[in-house]
Amino acid sequence: MNHIDFKGKTVIMRVDFNVPLDDNFKITDDTRITSAIPTIKAILEKGASVILMSHLGRPLKKLKEDGSINVKKFTLKHIIPVLSEHLGQEVAFIDDCLGEEAKKKSEQIKAGEVVLLENTRFYPGEEKGDKDMAQKLADLGDIYINDAFGTAHRAHASTAVIAQFFTKENKGFGYLMDSELENAKKVTDNPERPFTAIIGGAKVSDKMLLLERLSEIADNVIIGGGMAYTFMKAKGGKTGNSLVEDDRIELAKKLLDAGKGATFHLPEDSSCADAFSNDAKRATHNSMEIPDGWMGLDIGPEAIKQFSEVILKSKTILWNGPMGVFEMSHFAQGTKSVAEKVAEATKNGAYSLVGGGDSVAAVTQMELADDVSFVSTGGGAMLELLEGKDLPGVAAIRD
Ligand code: AMP
Repeated sequence: MNHIDFKGKTVIMRVDFNVPLDDNFKITDDTRITSAIPTIKAILEKGASVILMSHLGRPLKKLKEDGSINVKKFTLKHIIPVLSEHLGQEVAFIDDCLGEEAKKKSEQIKAGEVVLLENTRFYPGEEKGDKDMAQKLADLGDIYINDAFGTAHRAHASTAVIAQFFTKENKGFGYLMDSELENAKKVTDNPERPFTAIIGGAKVSDKMLLLERLSEIADNVIIGGGMAYTFMKAKGGKTGNSLVEDDRIELAKKLLDAGKGATFHLPEDSSCADAFSNDAKRATHNSMEIPDGWMGLDIGPEAIKQFSEVILKSKTILWNGPMGVFEMSHFAQGTKSVAEKVAEATKNGAYSLVGGGDSVAAVTQMELADDVSFVSTGGGAMLELLEGKDLPGVAAIRD
């Protein structure tokens, strides 16, 4: 953003205000709104006006019974009170992101004012990356700023296609986007070693590309969560009723046999249950010898010690995915212990990045978000960056 002359200009800015709402449309987590505030304030201070655009949910996938858009549910108007409060000034709302009213407002807006447009996904052109729609959005501003890291992996009209209508001098990344990209680089470009990746969550299949890349660039890959049992089976273990993806066993074998590259650490023992329930009967078993009728729902006490040792010796740590079914209190200990060890390693000087929905939820729930180096706001976008992909929203501004 620093190369742009903002004075007296109107900025059309893509933000990610796709926040969770309760049944009364109250925002339950405003992180994505607070994350955009520094960029908006900086632009206002430089003498410009700001027109904000975002999506919220998937309105065209969840139409009302009569086939119309559920405006009441998906309107960005829900954001206005919280946004105005955080900005410390009134934000005007336009109930369309295209059309006459938006155009008129863009011509009348004065320096220092902020306007929020209606949900960009009310139009099918948004997700299709429609050029006409992108041009109409581009017509609303002199400068395009993208601070929506959460949707940077989508080639949508407002996140990528729009950038082609601005010159290099008139487009740039916001601070959130900058900081997400910088932090991802700390892990992917010359990380301080040893570099340990902690990967958990339900399935190997969701994180195949990430695992393959990490096997090349990390020193240690710690595997926890449901995906550990596909690896256990690949090693010839008995996994009982644990979650196993039979069609990923070959990949797991390949990763384990790679010879060079990362050392894979699998949980020595597992906290098991006789049903997928918090109230089920519980027992600890060696992860290679889980009896029939039992399933691993968390890493066990030995695995916690084993993983803690690796984590505390690391200088760079990436964490994506919980170590167990942490939503159930009896199977949250592994995730909690790993979060505490990542925080401890950070206190001792390591760099730590937590990225991806559920591990972010876990550190937030455990009130450890301030004790790690960086918590990413973009689940899918961060995963794709770490996989080594170029994000369309980034390429559109950079190239
Ligand atoms: P992901 O979205 O891939 O990071 O997966 C997160 C989900 O994986 C959470 O909802 C966890 O409950 C679930 N999970 C973690 N460990 C296990 C396990 N051992 N068995 C089944 N599900 C698990």
